[in-house]
Amino acid sequence: MRLPFAWTAKIAAHVVKQKLLRTQKFALVLQLEPLHTCNLTCTGCGRIREYSTNLKDMMPLEDCLDAAKECAAPMVSICGGEPLIYPLIEELIDGLIKQGRCVYVCTNGMFMRKKMRDYLARIYSAKTEPVLGKLLEEKLITEKDVLAIRKGKSDDRPVIGPSKWMYWNVHIDGLEYTHDLIVEREGVFKECVEAIKMAKILGYQVATNTTVYKETQIKEIEQMFEYFSSLEVDAHTISPGYEYDAAKKDMVKRLGKQPEDFFLTRKMTREKFKDMEKWGDRFTIIGTRVYQEFLAGKRELTCTAWAIPTRNVRGWKAPCYLMTDGHYPRYQEMLEKVDWEKYGVVDGVARDTRCENCMVHCGYDPSGALSPKLSDTWKNMSYIFGAKPQPYYEGRSVNAFNGFSIGKGHLAEAKAAINSNPASGGCASGDTSQRDELLAKIATSKKTS
Ligand code: SF4
Ligand code: SF4
Repeated sequence: MRLPFAWTAKIAAHVVKQKLLRTQKFALVLQLEPLHTCNLTCTGCGRIREYSTNLKDMMPLEDCLDAAKECAAPMVSICGGEPLIYPLIEELIDGLIKQGRCVYVCTNGMFMRKKMRDYLARIYSAKTEPVLGKLLEEKLITEKDVLAIRKGKSDDRPVIGPSKWMYWNVHIDGLEYTHDLIVEREGVFKECVEAIKMAKILGYQVATNTTVYKETQIKEIEQMFEYFSSLEVDAHTISPGYEYDAAKKDMVKRLGKQPEDFFLTRKMTREKFKDMEKWGDRFTIIGTRVYQEFLAGKRELTCTAWAIPTRNVRGWKAPCYLMTDGHYPRYQEMLEKVDWEKYGVVDGVARDTRCENCMVHCGYDPSGALSPKLSDTWKNMSYIFGAKPQPYYEGRSVNAFNGFSIGKGHLAEAKAAINSNPASGGCASGDTSQRDELLAKIATSKKTS
């Protein structure tokens, strides 16, 4: 099975119950954004550009837990911002699991190892020594970390331990060079890989979460799946990028790029995802078969954004994770007050021009899951209950560390280019605009070559 049986049973029971109750619109996955603060500034991220990233602007723990109860979604995806910055993230995950939810912790990976060291400190006993030895041997922790872990953790706060009800969902947008370029910081890919290796040794469930942009090379995405499959990552999610208004403006102002140079149109998405079903056969890609057919251009679907609602510090965000036409205090109020017929693309015609190029999972994956056709239900069930693809160990030979780790990171290239061209201004002027411009040019030439 592609998802654990317990997850599949819980989700299926929820759908059947809502159908029996004849509920027209209901939530399948809650996208919970307890805060919008992040330690990174990824290209294309709408969140850190649309919302306040001040640490004062975050949801109280009770509101987060109440939001899950209120919409009753069986799955909660904790995102943001970077959720591991949320001061009560341990209590939040613990509380959601106690409510019986399936939890994805969507993270950029930078603080995962710290959270797992906290877990090790909490459970530390002589029996933990072999696993510490293994982590040391693999260089995933240091001698200093071991000393700290051995001291234990005695406060009464929960820790984030391995659970069948939780996945780490690590943001990975390509191999090292590309990923570090998109997140606009070198060394992030390497940290993600180390965090994933540590998580697997400790018995956590781990997924990767990838957004495909216009410049993403599909060959590289396949290699990325091969590489992470060889690390025995449990699941992958993948979705086409979307033109956030906030991200578009940022791109023009900060990087001097036009949105059409970066984001995908519908036609381009279908071209990029034409082998989606083959990827689904080879790798443990989470999502419905019907959505995969939609991405591959084999069928149309109508947006069901109400099934993956977003709750953040300002309320329930309507109509969807991507667009903001308003925030509502209650989920039910949002369902009733939003004119859902105004959104989405029907038979190839956009009801709202902003929806024109959207094929993202949060609008259309639930459409695949909730399709009334029996043939679609059968397709989805066969896919979900089908045998889980085996790890692809040949993926170890993929040249994943093709950037910063071999001295070819995008910042190193920019620096070398600046140093070799004194007329470019160099340091001490205090004006970084030329450097930024150069960096953008290097990024563009490298990614389109
Ligand atoms: S890690 Fe996520 S929230 Fe942070 S900037 Fe990147 S995409 Fe945005
Ligand atoms: S199609 Fe749906 S998910 Fe996509 S932007 Fe429009 S309302 Fe949002």
